[in-house]
Amino acid sequence: MSDSPLHDGSYIILGKRWRLVFVRFPSLGRRRSKDGECDAPDSPNKKIRIGKHLHNRPRRLLEVIIHECLHAADWHKDDAWVETVSEDVAKILWAQGFRLGRTNPE
Ligand SMILES: [Zn+2]
Repeated sequence: MSDSPLHDGSYIILGKRWRLVFVRFPSLGRRRSKDGECDAPDSPNKKIRIGKHLHNRPRRLLEVIIHECLHAADWHKDDAWVETVSEDVAKILWAQGFRLGRTNPE
């Protein structure tokens, strides 16, 4: 059993199911090309992909998971709205003490 706090899972957002998977996004120069992405709500076997490279940046990881879940919930919201709300919500949760644990049983 891995001691990584990151684990894939299958989750319902507004009545539709996405598989949340941690992936290695390609590098773009010295950085990763992206931190996360979400498949459209009407696509089959849809996934939310989160960059494995965020395992040591839990605050950003929280932000990115919220961000992609917001896209899943409302595909037509523009990215600036999604970015701002996910940053705001992550900031609140972080200030309230939410952290990434070693193991996260359901
Ligand atoms: Zn986005």
